[in-house]
Amino acid sequence: MRWFAALASLGLSTCVHRVSEVDAPRTVVLVAKAIRTMDPRRPVAQALAMRDGRIIAVGSRAEVLAQAGEGALVEEYPSSTIVPGLVDAHGHLAALGDALATVSLASATTEEDAVSLLSRAETMGGWLVGAGWDQNRWETKALPRRESLDGAFPATPVLLHRVDGHALWVNSEALRRAGITAETADPAGGRILRDAAGAPTGVLVDNAMALVASRVPAVSPEERRRRLSRAIETCARLGLTGVHDAGLDLETLRVLQEWDMKSLLPIRVYAMAQGQGPEAEELLGMGPFRGSRVELRAVKFLLDGGLGSRGAALLAPYSDEPSQSGLLVLEAAAFEARARRFAQAGFQVAVHAIGDRANALALDVLTRLSTERPGSRNRVEHAQVLKLDDVPRFAAAGIIASFQPTHATSDMPWAQARLGAERVRGAYAWRAVLDTGARVAFGSDFPVEDPNPLWGLYAARTRMDRSGQPPSGWTPEQRVTGEEALAGFTTGAAWASFAEEHAGQLIAGFDADFVVLPVDPVTDDPRSLLEARVELTVVGGVDVYRADRPR
Ligand SMILES: [Zn+2]
Repeated sequence: MRWFAALASLGLSTCVHRVSEVDAPRTVVLVAKAIRTMDPRRPVAQALAMRDGRIIAVGSRAEVLAQAGEGALVEEYPSSTIVPGLVDAHGHLAALGDALATVSLASATTEEDAVSLLSRAETMGGWLVGAGWDQNRWETKALPRRESLDGAFPATPVLLHRVDGHALWVNSEALRRAGITAETADPAGGRILRDAAGAPTGVLVDNAMALVASRVPAVSPEERRRRLSRAIETCARLGLTGVHDAGLDLETLRVLQEWDMKSLLPIRVYAMAQGQGPEAEELLGMGPFRGSRVELRAVKFLLDGGLGSRGAALLAPYSDEPSQSGLLVLEAAAFEARARRFAQAGFQVAVHAIGDRANALALDVLTRLSTERPGSRNRVEHAQVLKLDDVPRFAAAGIIASFQPTHATSDMPWAQARLGAERVRGAYAWRAVLDTGARVAFGSDFPVEDPNPLWGLYAARTRMDRSGQPPSGWTPEQRVTGEEALAGFTTGAAWASFAEEHAGQLIAGFDADFVVLPVDPVTDDPRSLLEARVELTVVGGVDVYRADRPR
């Protein structure tokens, strides 16, 4: 249709080019089986009209056609459901681009299997780089070792990211190039795993990862832009009209700003700056800003590691490794001082916290910051394992819980072993947090999980994996309804980005951001979400993905 822009096939540096500017502004009406408006005054409608990037009417077919006037273009979707644009409240665009460009080990079922997947990989700058391994999915559940890589790659350095991004598996050549030996001390907030003799086994956790990762030659700027484009295109195809990028580097931010100024950006990006990296001072100096589709208003801090690699900071030892309680990667006083500087500069503070110890610290500090600056909508990213006493603290202080439903269904095979039966009651506790009246936003943490938001909606409603296990859902008392699941990806994400007055609902005057789906995510059997393919993704009235027009 003329009013939709064509999403150009991605060249080396551009995402999309619009044709709508050359068309006369025109009112467009979409009629569907159902429109889930997320407006409590009128939750279901049949038609909407839009013009100049905004919704101008929502209601019955007759009401909307009357308001749209003559000459409106009418599109019919008699078997489809329209929902507000889905927003992933916690993803990583640049890392998704990297993941799409590097060998994935996610399908491996054994350590040997993972090594054999590497035989098809190409080296970059002389290094073999991969991602997605997860020993919890392997038969032995044992962490991998450098020796298994050394057999196949005696001279090529190999670096493989664990699925959660909190550990690396490397071979002996990579250790040699990084100068890591039995004598190398663990860096603060990191661990070099060692055998009985003290020699590195080939797994590096959290802050120890940089010892090797810093040796990998950088990817060229052109290649990074190409990867970023591909990640954004993937999001649009999956029905994401926006992403909250949980920790952008400055280069990525500047590329997004450039594309935004040229109207080349198909989706909206709400950026969280990195609060503890080398660019923190520069970001603090820049302060928040708002472009057309790119906004920088948040800063993200990382307090602990992942549960899978036992890096998450727990108040009591791991149930399956009593000598470990995880790690705080940022010391409490330093975290609070840095967070306060960003808060005073006008940033919303977002804190990655997995373990109950990290979450308690995050809530302590964010509660103080929220008291100092009411309305600051600070947020805890993941909020994965909560002490039960901490559950009501989100609502009490106006702190947002930013959850990733698919983390629960990926982690459930081993989460109880890590935590024990008592602590698991506060883990992935969406229902418990919602019931206190807290604001909740949903995301995926892509590329840790798949970016498909329909899979997130499914996981939120079912607490089952994609093969339907366990049949009644894992800790099913934490399931949410279809409406609540959709809210997490729409109104919840809008609130978390201060956008609730123009996004998250389909209401006259709001942004024309919506998705046309072959299923109703609220009332249809949740299993139908697993195979469903987005039919149309519209951002600001512009078609950014259309299934029936293959590119
Ligand atoms: Zn993340």
